[in-house]
Amino acid sequence: MAKISERIIEEIKNRISFTDLISQYISVEKKGDRYWALCPFHEEKTPSFSFVPDRGFFHCFGCGKGGSLFDFVMEMEHLSFPEAVRFLAEKVGIEIEEESPEERKKRDELKSMRSLYDKIAASFNYILNNSSFAQEARQYLKRRGFSDETINYYQVGFAPDDPVWLYTFLKEREFSDPFLKQSGLFSRNNVEYPLFRNRLMFPIRDWQGRVVAFGGRDLSGSSKAKYINTPETLLYSKREVLYGLHEGLDEIKKEQSVILCEGYFDVLALHQAGLKNCVAPLGTAFTPEQGRLIRRYAEKVLFLFDGDLAGLNATKKALIIAENGGLQTRVIVLKGAEDPAELLEKEGGEPLLEQCKETQSGFDYLVHSAINRYDAGQANGKLQIFNEVKPYLDAVDSNIVRQSYLRDLASYLQLDEETLTRDYVERSKVGGKKPQEERKIGGGGARLSTDLYLLLTVMNNRSLFPLIRRRLPADALKDERAITLYNLLEETSREGVGESDEFILQRIEDEELRNLVARSFMTGEFRSQSEKIANETLQTITLRHLRVRRKRVENLLRLAERDGQGGQELADLLHEKKSLDEEIAKYEDASVW
Ligand code: ATP
Ligand code: MN
Repeated sequence: MAKISERIIEEIKNRISFTDLISQYISVEKKGDRYWALCPFHEEKTPSFSFVPDRGFFHCFGCGKGGSLFDFVMEMEHLSFPEAVRFLAEKVGIEIEEESPEERKKRDELKSMRSLYDKIAASFNYILNNSSFAQEARQYLKRRGFSDETINYYQVGFAPDDPVWLYTFLKEREFSDPFLKQSGLFSRNNVEYPLFRNRLMFPIRDWQGRVVAFGGRDLSGSSKAKYINTPETLLYSKREVLYGLHEGLDEIKKEQSVILCEGYFDVLALHQAGLKNCVAPLGTAFTPEQGRLIRRYAEKVLFLFDGDLAGLNATKKALIIAENGGLQTRVIVLKGAEDPAELLEKEGGEPLLEQCKETQSGFDYLVHSAINRYDAGQANGKLQIFNEVKPYLDAVDSNIVRQSYLRDLASYLQLDEETLTRDYVERSKVGGKKPQEERKIGGGGARLSTDLYLLLTVMNNRSLFPLIRRRLPADALKDERAITLYNLLEETSREGVGESDEFILQRIEDEELRNLVARSFMTGEFRSQSEKIANETLQTITLRHLRVRRKRVENLLRLAERDGQGGQELADLLHEKKSLDEEIAKYEDASVW
């Protein structure tokens, strides 16, 4: 797709009334110069979704979502950014300039691939419901306790055993061989031979609801692979997709939570039991990308993995990834079955629903499972239990929460809390994470690095940028998000265009970062004492940077001395170290500004 020009974006904004657009989706109420509404992105009873029309962006004080009118339309209409621009351009009658032939070709290919996957999903589903040769498949599903309603809600299908059916079917619809070859549906060596035969077919959708892949479960019982998935294609990257996300999205937003289970059948079972906010990764471990995807819609994940050792290990890793991604975590442990699908089959939906109401914290889950496996009465066992829980404690965001976990752990292990805490801190120093300098941002309680704090201050007081630009040493920033914001400020000041808040917001690609900045614009909390804060943070960052440089020089010096190098190089290094020492001393004395 042709890169959408700034001009078009500006034109759309000029022609569309922010208030009118939003009013088409939700009812808004004016108070002073600001509008309020019930947030469409999470469940609430009092309005915390707010915008000031002139400023061109919205922010929800409840769930933290915020952005421009494009972001709003992307969410409401389930569109990508370019699609949202097209959508709005059409509304106001703006022509978007044509794309290059190459871009055109790629877009057409994507389009054909989408339509191919859509068609096949519908056909497999039709076959499952109607064909005589799918009778065994239907009986299989019935035996496992799934209703027609559940099956069709997820558009489950059946791929016939017939080895030529799919190829013939698609050739009749005029798909070419080279195209089918890269579709992920046929053997690599033989374009006519289908990957899926005699399998139940689960269409895998992206969050927008488009079929991007299939998972297929063997029904013959004789295949080496019980499950196979389509390989990664133009449409599909398994690390970034969650099965069931689209189907469960409304419920996920409403509940602000996700139940993460292991497989396709587990998702179907939970749904049927009335837990419609369930998803599963696709035959791989839970990834940080999937965590971010969830974070867009919910604040909490409930892990419900198999009750075996593999499930335990998967849960341990997933808990840490989720905690690091800023999600709250809980764990569900089923009794009487290995997984939700088995429980549904054995006991029905009601007991499954009941059992899922009982959750434990990630911490309790880890401690209990460790206590089951190691002897908490022995010194060695205590150490093993501690080691098992430690990575999770490291990932916990809040010191208060961590301290309360350490207190619990001390009592489980019958150790004195202070000793345990000291041990924890000691071990964290050796090769562990370095303690982060952090500051709190009001309300949300999110952790901000000093770097980000500085850049948010500058974002909110952009006249400070020239000063920061002069004083901040190159390479001094470490926090990726701060670097992103710095580069953005650099770009916009160089281009000398679009200095408005909304213009800046529009250019932040990372959604979480954009929400954070939008929030800061809205609350104004970075506006007061901005110069003082900028100076302080700048000083901290500069000092940190000087120390890193000194460390580097010291290492070089040690090497030079060990290798017996003398002469100019050694002299230069010594000189550099001396001037760094002096500069650092100056900063440590503070108030140089
Ligand atoms: P079933 O309920 O169908 O008998 P299961 O629960 O015993 O399967 P597991 O082997 O525990 O199956 O796998 C759990 C889930 O992981 C499966 O439901 C499937 O979604 C996914 N999975 C397993 N193996 C693969 C694979 N090779 N490729 C893709 N996904 C897989
Ligand atoms: Mn299973």
